[in-house]
Amino acid sequence: MKSLDDTIAAISTPLGQGGIGLVRMSGPHALAIARRLFRPARGSADAAWPPFRLRHGHIADPATGERVDEVLAAYMPAPRTYTRQDVVEINCHGGVVPLRKVLELTLREGARLAEPGEFTLRAFLNGRIDLAQAEAVLDVVNAHTEAALRLAVHQLDGHLSGEIRQVRESLVAALAYLEATIDFVEDEIPPQDVGPVLRDAAAALQRVLRGADQGIIYRQGIRTAIIGRPNVGKSSLLNALLRMDRAIVTPIPGTTRDTLEETLNLSGVPLVLVDTAGIANGSTNLVEQLGIERSREALRRADLILMVVDGSEPLQQEDWEIARLAQERPTVLVINKSDLPTVAGIVDLLPGAPRVQVSALTGEGLDDLKTMILHQVLGGEVMASDGILVTSARHKDVLARAQGHVQKAAKTFHDGLPADFVTIDLRAALDSLGEVTGQTVTADLLDSVFANFCIGK
Ligand code: GDP
Repeated sequence: MKSLDDTIAAISTPLGQGGIGLVRMSGPHALAIARRLFRPARGSADAAWPPFRLRHGHIADPATGERVDEVLAAYMPAPRTYTRQDVVEINCHGGVVPLRKVLELTLREGARLAEPGEFTLRAFLNGRIDLAQAEAVLDVVNAHTEAALRLAVHQLDGHLSGEIRQVRESLVAALAYLEATIDFVEDEIPPQDVGPVLRDAAAALQRVLRGADQGIIYRQGIRTAIIGRPNVGKSSLLNALLRMDRAIVTPIPGTTRDTLEETLNLSGVPLVLVDTAGIANGSTNLVEQLGIERSREALRRADLILMVVDGSEPLQQEDWEIARLAQERPTVLVINKSDLPTVAGIVDLLPGAPRVQVSALTGEGLDDLKTMILHQVLGGEVMASDGILVTSARHKDVLARAQGHVQKAAKTFHDGLPADFVTIDLRAALDSLGEVTGQTVTADLLDSVFANFCIGK
């Protein structure tokens, strides 16, 4: 487990030129380090530092007295801070050089360079937020659409954690009662029926899990491949869709992007178009250009396939071959060029796949296509995003496991088996719930959660 006793520092704004940039410190020596570096514009450097106020001044190198940057600095004493430790924030001019220099001085004066997510990790370890909320911080940063942002902010507010806490409390009470019946003779403690408690807990977890699949889609997006033989209109379709709904794309730190990825915002669902490089640069055949292996790979990584055919021409051998590849995945058949006279014979291609006629040229049918995609990825019943609590696959897995344990405990109890059989499952359920909120975490789990953060967060 990482130490909380030292003082960490990092540049918290993206590197590059900007209006301002922020160097942040957290830890017991943050104030002392700041005092050695900061020269206030007014008043004495020796006077007490007023908390929660922005102070105007300069950062100077204590060794040489040389001024490094003009800044606004704030000191926020523990515990009312992001990390619950003393925090100092120094707003510099946004250039890379002054920021680096100020950071370097904090390190020279005794701070340690923060690891990715370490400020948020401290907030978690100090109990200001639980693990689900810490993960939500990352989701807020990475949100591609407003729906994803809304879900992340809900989780950050503790909606998921609150539901889990209630279930946890009822299970802890049931466990305490059952353990008492094991340890003491029955008539010493008032009898309780834990059956309904366990059934209610299982039902509550079921409710929490409702919408999880959709939540995961809102957060992660749907990886989508547009495929089809040359000249059917793939790039025209892509561009028509992008003109309507291009999403704001933020590169996610740590991901390599060897292929061009575009994201569409389909009513809040991010549609991540994979391997669009070959399509978007105006060249034609994805299969030819990337090789059949590459497109197989693109297909394998896609959650959804848009297979485009030219409705104004008879199907060709290549259409059938590509359709065979597409068969393995959820596919929407897009019959393009509806502005031209259509030919029959497409009916047999991809039987069972939903199909829609569009014209990438005139935009006709694109709204139907969007509706069909949403239907296909979210399933029949689309939940309002504010009813969704679970947005991560990790939470879904752990909660499903917890629910299984609770159901098993309920059944064991119902079947009248000895209390210690029930308590085994109850403990397992509590452990699983603790993995969501962070009461039961391993160092590995923490590492894997915080590895995705950027430095300075
Ligand atoms: P790709 O090779 O599959 O990417 O196909 P393109 O998007 O490059 O389109 C091939 C040709 O079909 C171009 O000349 C487009 O202008 C034309 N095209 C694409 N979509 C339509 C459409 O909906 N209607 C008509 N009439 N032509 C289209």
